[in-house]
Amino acid sequence: MEIRPFYDKKVACLYCKHNFTTTRIRSRFVRVSSHGSDFKPVYSDPEVNPIFYNVAVCPHCGFSFTDDFSPYFAPGTEKDIAERIASKWNERSFGAERTINEAIETYKLAYLSAMFKKEKVLTLAGLTLRVAWLYRDKGAEVEEKRFLTIARNFYNVSYSEGDFAGTQMSETRVSYLIAELSWKIGDKDEAIKNFSRVLESQRTSTEPKIIEMAKERWQEIRVIK
Ligand SMILES: [Zn+2]
Repeated sequence: MEIRPFYDKKVACLYCKHNFTTTRIRSRFVRVSSHGSDFKPVYSDPEVNPIFYNVAVCPHCGFSFTDDFSPYFAPGTEKDIAERIASKWNERSFGAERTINEAIETYKLAYLSAMFKKEKVLTLAGLTLRVAWLYRDKGAEVEEKRFLTIARNFYNVSYSEGDFAGTQMSETRVSYLIAELSWKIGDKDEAIKNFSRVLESQRTSTEPKIIEMAKERWQEIRVIK
């Protein structure tokens, strides 16, 4: 029997607790050939893109989430989700293989769900950065820039509030992303401020690769400036 890259994963909705299945990609089929300057992975086989399947959309209530969501619902958030998401939801499924447009839709649903659930700002930043990546894959530059800006602003809040602490994101990585996204959206002042911060941290940082990426970009900025 031929093993396909896709499989059905059973998940329970974090909000309404219903069980449903969502498509995932077997990790052994995923080959990352390189990363973009904002860490966007480039997959050897663009047809097998795990980013399309990070979001689970509950077909019963519409609540949409990734593995980054916490199971905890802060007081009042469940009422908001009932009123703003579940009551407006028309039963539909995103459980099968997804087109890029469907993938974008799932991230927007997860973004909305994360807002009403009051998830970590870092999670909001990650979701909106992935929307930007998907628009980049589509060649939709205006939409890409719109979501890069939203993501950059969330990373800025995450940095100043320190809500990335205890996650896989280091301070160097958050600063670098703020800098690089600012550079991409044409906000030079913010890019310079944050690349400087990355370079200042080089003696204490445990992320030499990111320091190197920041140095390369810094050379380029100095030429253009
Ligand atoms: Zn649900």
